[in-house]
Amino acid sequence: MTAIVLDGRAVAARLRARVRDQAMAAGIVPSLAVVMVGEDAASRLYVRNKTRAAAEAGFREQTIILSADISEAGLLAVVRRLNDDPGVDGILVQLPLPSQIRPQAVIEAIDPGKDVDGFHPVNAGRLAIGRPALIPCTPKGVMTMLREAGVAVAGARAVVLGRSSIVGRPMAALLTLADATVTLAHSRTRDLAAECRRAEILIAAVGRAELVRGDWVAPGAAVIDVGINRTADGRLVGDVAFAEALPHAGWISPVPGGVGPMTIASLLENTLAAALARRGVVVGCPA
Ligand code: NAD
Repeated sequence: MTAIVLDGRAVAARLRARVRDQAMAAGIVPSLAVVMVGEDAASRLYVRNKTRAAAEAGFREQTIILSADISEAGLLAVVRRLNDDPGVDGILVQLPLPSQIRPQAVIEAIDPGKDVDGFHPVNAGRLAIGRPALIPCTPKGVMTMLREAGVAVAGARAVVLGRSSIVGRPMAALLTLADATVTLAHSRTRDLAAECRRAEILIAAVGRAELVRGDWVAPGAAVIDVGINRTADGRLVGDVAFAEALPHAGWISPVPGGVGPMTIASLLENTLAAALARRGVVVGCPA
């Protein structure tokens, strides 16, 4: 058996087109503000991809680039200004931040209604109890991928590797809300391979190149690889040894071209949801 390779670029393109159409049908132009501190090359690329996707979807977008030595108070003042700006629907502060700034202080300063990254404790809490929320973009994109591929989630045994607050934990929450039986594994999990082998849905969000070997994958499992790792010889690889896993899995997402594009498309969904909610239309229910 050879797995179906999930084409994140194609699914994301369809999703972005859907979001553009929904915004047009609602007669609104959502507006996204992205704040970047410093000149980190990777962050710059991520920010450019996000704002370009927003512009292509017909959204208004602005990028605010702040000096790398700005104080925490200075950044918080920018966030407050955007909170108060009625012309801004979504605010995203690109992480990581320089060491003088506490990321949690910044995340908690963002108006939860404009928190299109879904990192604010109010949104995390709402997701945890299954209330409408802005949901972190990467796990949201994974759920869309599974749905579009026709993977049966309800009742499935799902294993999530990694328990970060931006990927692993919300991923486990979303799968639970979608009625999977979820195991959240992490760096202290005993016998990770055995846990993985029980998974009908396996989500890897660890950040260790090719940690998941082919024989960790159950026959026919849906394998979603969130990891982005640069090898010593410069290749971009995921957390899953793709070529090894291919003959075992039923579905598998590649790196690059899998989850990455879905994350950006989900950001547009969140921005539209925030824009609609600010105009009294509540969407963005979990899952
Ligand atoms: P993180 O470092 O915050 O968390 C990693 C998690 O993996 C931790 O919970 C840790 O317990 C667990 N872990 C570490 N080593 C492990 C091991 N040997 N076995 C099992 N678990 C282990 O990372 P993150 O922010 O959640 O990101 C994870 C990966 O996903 C990274 O490669 C990151 O670049 C990638 N990522 C991709 C996207 C995307 O859009 N494709 C978005 C966010 C993150």
